[in-house]
Amino acid sequence: MTTAVGLISGGLDSILAARLILEQGIKIQGVSFITPFFNSKGAERAAQAVGIPLQVLDITEPHLAMLRKPKHGYGNNMNPCIDCHILMLKEAGRVMEEGGYDFLFTGEVLGQRPMSQNKASLRVVERESGYEGLVLRPLSAQLLPETMPEHAGKVDREQLVGIKGRSRKEQMELAKRYHITEYLSPAGGCLLTDPIFSRRLGDLFRRPEPVQIRDIELLKIGRHLRLSPAVKLIVGRHAQDNERISTMVIPKDDLLKVEKYPGPLCLIPYGGASEDIAQAASICLRYSDAPSDEEVTVLRRRGGEECRIKARSCPVSLPSELMI
Ligand code: SF4
Repeated sequence: MTTAVGLISGGLDSILAARLILEQGIKIQGVSFITPFFNSKGAERAAQAVGIPLQVLDITEPHLAMLRKPKHGYGNNMNPCIDCHILMLKEAGRVMEEGGYDFLFTGEVLGQRPMSQNKASLRVVERESGYEGLVLRPLSAQLLPETMPEHAGKVDREQLVGIKGRSRKEQMELAKRYHITEYLSPAGGCLLTDPIFSRRLGDLFRRPEPVQIRDIELLKIGRHLRLSPAVKLIVGRHAQDNERISTMVIPKDDLLKVEKYPGPLCLIPYGGASEDIAQAASICLRYSDAPSDEEVTVLRRRGGEECRIKARSCPVSLPSELMI
């Protein structure tokens, strides 16, 4: 029996690719990936709907290393899609080799994304993954060179399709044929395609200190303001942010909260000097219900120690000037 490892993102294209392969009686092992930037929830739902097993691989470490300096550069934001695809294919290839599967397949569509899915990029991704000739793209197969499993008669090329370009018309028709109604949007859920998150990540990468997973998780919460080259302030936007901030504090951090008035939790990761804390307190007040023309007490906690600071609200324009 022919067997294959399929990269399942949870998007429509990967679901359709799996359906086209299943239709040929080929057994599929799905793989999906997690990092702090994307998860496997959509892929888990898709694998269940299609009826294939799914192995979820945590690729945080190699992905972060690649993300600092992607060989093929970034897309519109901090998304290094070509290098990311290479890494995913390498990891999936390991599953293929260890499990003795015949080939790999993906839901990539020729020309769908100008940078990462043109003919040259698809070739580069395949070559640099180390699995040249073993990567089948069922949705565009008829427009691409024949792969080894097709040549060996393990896959019938005639039953695959030749979709090209950014119009989703043909995918929608295939989806109708297979009664598929639920799926993620393309690149759905990848934070690296989000402009605000990307700005914050770029700011984090410019810091000389090694990046911790918590630093990345904090990028997902609140407003981020840079107080100085070394000091950043995170301001909770709502109760959910405040709750998450409170669970992520470590003893070195400064945590600020206005006393006696409703307001946000404000966090200086790894702490600040006294002038940073004074400025953070004035910003914390700006986002609180405290009167802007009065001196108000702000509680500041670091580790087990707590102190009170008197501060006045900062000028209205300051937070947006400092916003990352
Ligand atoms: S959108 Fe995100 S997950 Fe998808 S290839 Fe690009 S960087 Fe990787």
